[in-house]
Amino acid sequence: MVEHRLLIVDDDLAIHRLFSDIAQNCGYLVNTADDILSVSTVYKKFQPTLIFLDLSLTEGDGVEVLRLLSEHGCKSPIVVISSHDDKVRATTVRLGESRGLMMAGTFQKPIDIKTLTVILNKYKNYGFNFNEQDIERAIKNHEFILHYQPKVLIKTKEIIGAEALVRWQVPSQKNLIYPDAFIPFSEKTGSISNLSRYIIQQAIKQIHEHQIDFQLSINLSGRDLTDLSLPDEIVSYVKKYRIDPAKICFEITETSVMSQPTVAMDILTRLRIHGFELSMDDFGIGYSSLIELHRMPFSELKIDKSFIKNLSISSDTLPIVRCIINLGKGLSLKVVAEGVETQEAWNILEKEECHYAQGYFISQPLDISSFLDFVKKNKSSTSS
Ligand code: C2E
Ligand code: MG
Ligand code: MG
Repeated sequence: MVEHRLLIVDDDLAIHRLFSDIAQNCGYLVNTADDILSVSTVYKKFQPTLIFLDLSLTEGDGVEVLRLLSEHGCKSPIVVISSHDDKVRATTVRLGESRGLMMAGTFQKPIDIKTLTVILNKYKNYGFNFNEQDIERAIKNHEFILHYQPKVLIKTKEIIGAEALVRWQVPSQKNLIYPDAFIPFSEKTGSISNLSRYIIQQAIKQIHEHQIDFQLSINLSGRDLTDLSLPDEIVSYVKKYRIDPAKICFEITETSVMSQPTVAMDILTRLRIHGFELSMDDFGIGYSSLIELHRMPFSELKIDKSFIKNLSISSDTLPIVRCIINLGKGLSLKVVAEGVETQEAWNILEKEECHYAQGYFISQPLDISSFLDFVKKNKSSTSS
């Protein structure tokens, strides 16, 4: 039986109680620490599989905790949950990453129970050990499944697309394994090449089988953009299932284009020539964003969720979001906000005339049958 162990590092005892209750309900064993000294002791004894970190502690602070965890060679995901503003939290995450830690995101307090539960479930299987052969075997055994997250037109709330997100259903594990736990590994070992082909084929097959009449977005990894044979294979899949290439949008991150820009440009231009659409994912957090946007044939821009999650009238990400929306529109791109979690964020995006929204506020990523139900309900509610 796999044990899930959560360490809560926070100086607020009410938070210890609240987070502990929720985590125990999700099947975690829980331990807490409220200062730097107890973190060290508890960490060594408890060996957490997930850490929630506040930045203000009774003695010491979150930055010192990250230094200490790095010295201990900590490999567990760390989620920063703090009342400090976006900038301080984002800097802390970058600092943790540069110390070699697995920074699994940052959230502003107060955090709602739904989001907390999603995080807890997501990282349950992070410590699951596997190797390259396991991935290859899992592809053959059809253990990788796609969940779909709807993308809606903000003006009408109508579903105009969905993003395919891969999950690993390991027969011996109770919970699904999320992509952050195996995509970076597959990229390193090269098994991503077969995995991406499998994912693309599955998505195309499902469009065909369920007669999906809107666009599906599929994520490509940086490694896929070094593989010159990929466009021909993708073209052969759409021919096989008689799918219009315009029904597929490939999402690419800014950083993934950068390793071999000329090869990436070759691949992306060919995909575009064959009629596929291209989206720049996670826009705003990479480097050289504007150059890539100008150089590559993108049709869509997706604003990174870190700008959207806590979007409110008073947040300092609002001018950035406004600016990205105008930039995208100025370049005649479709603009999508991802990570829409609240009514307030939705209202702001509507006012700023952002085209599309995706996020937990609309729906979590869903398995194919729940997704098709969701689409049916949406159709009847938006047509009445
Ligand atoms: P991404 O492409 O930026 O996908 C969006 C991620 O944000 C997804 O996480 C999604 O579940 C999550 N998300 C959606 N709405 C919200 C929200 O309102 N709030 C918050 N906090 N998060 C939200 P997921 O599924 O864990 O995927 C993580 C990343 O893994 C993806 O980021 C993508 O880079 C990669 N990935 C997922 N599926 C694939 C795939 O099929 N192939 C490749 N190469 N990469 C994939
Ligand atoms: Mg994406
Ligand atoms: Mg994204």
